Amino acid sequence: MTNTNHHDSEYVKELASKFTVLPNENRAADAKREQLIDKPAFGQIFSDSMAHMTWTAGEGWSDRRIEPYGPLKMDPGASVLHYAQTVFEGLKTYRHSDGSLWLFRPDANAERFQNSATRLELPTLSVDDFIGSVAAVARADHQWVPTRHDYTLYMRPFMFASESFLGVRRAKEVEYCVIASPSGPYFPNGVKPVSIWVEDTYFRTGPGGTGFAKCGGNYSASLVGEYRGIEQGCEQVCFVDAATKTYLEELGGMNVFAVHKDGHLETPSLNGNILPGVTRRSIIQIAQDEGHDVVEKMIKLDDLLEDIKSGEITEVFACGTAAIVTPIGRFKSEKFDVEVNNQAVGEYTAHLREHLMGIQWGEVEDKYNWMWKISD
Ligand SMILES: *Cc1c(COP(=O)(O)O)cnc(C)c1O
Repeated sequence: MTNTNHHDSEYVKELASKFTVLPNENRAADAKREQLIDKPAFGQIFSDSMAHMTWTAGEGWSDRRIEPYGPLKMDPGASVLHYAQTVFEGLKTYRHSDGSLWLFRPDANAERFQNSATRLELPTLSVDDFIGSVAAVARADHQWVPTRHDYTLYMRPFMFASESFLGVRRAKEVEYCVIASPSGPYFPNGVKPVSIWVEDTYFRTGPGGTGFAKCGGNYSASLVGEYRGIEQGCEQVCFVDAATKTYLEELGGMNVFAVHKDGHLETPSLNGNILPGVTRRSIIQIAQDEGHDVVEKMIKLDDLLEDIKSGEITEVFACGTAAIVTPIGRFKSEKFDVEVNNQAVGEYTAHLREHLMGIQWGEVEDKYNWMWKISD
């Protein structure tokens, strides 16, 4: 592996320094902040600062700033409120045991953010501005990054069409922000396999749609399916392809893998409907380097269920930034109810989870150079 110095803290500091830190009179008191970090209410509590940039058709991106977290001023005619031109990302700031702060593959999130924006006819943001803005928030609010293992500061970059205009066209004014929310472990009481509702009536996307883009609309479209699953006692929903209702796609916010008894892994191929997860990509790399074949292909739901029942498939798991690796213990629909691995956590699933978390927490050698140091 080549060791580029792009990942060292001096380089990231330089990117972050493009964002002017404005005075902030509203910082939380130390005791209050400590209390909020100690029992994080994910996505409900935000740190003191946010990154903010503005784009106009005439001038491009300008006004890079770190400002106090607070309500946005928006015209009721802003096109995002009517036509949903908005895309987002999600990544975490990790604090290693020596106190240093790190990001995991933010360049991959930056590239995906560009692909998402392009799909929605929004302007693209440079990789440098993406990484710089995320790092600038983490650096300004470094005291908000928890010290406890498995606790992180979740970073949420997003972009939206702020121009007040009710015609349907490319916006001439766009805003970009990064907000941050302290978050605790996804499984506070130990990893437990989740149950999955297989949804074949309401879809999150379809051929030629926005499935590969991380855009708000995909999530609003997935809610009906999520609630149908919850009514059936399931924790998550898995979508099948809208065109044929035959192939497995992904969960509302996580990609899916199956582990076969000979050790090879299968995962649905990126057919345009599926979100190309950074965790998915990382797991493919790790598994291959550990000698496991990884096959990216269209997976028939019927085959998956048959292979689970016959023991050909021994483990199934979902993956994404929030929960990292989540074992799947059950698939349910109106037509079937199938247990996976007696609802136990699979061995290779557990290993992948530990290994990937080890890299993120600086406890396993980062031979891929995935970690970016944002402050010492
Ligand atoms: C964000 C997301 C994922 C996971 O992507 P990561 O980069 O691994 O966090 C998977 N599916 C959907 C629909 C998503 O929005």
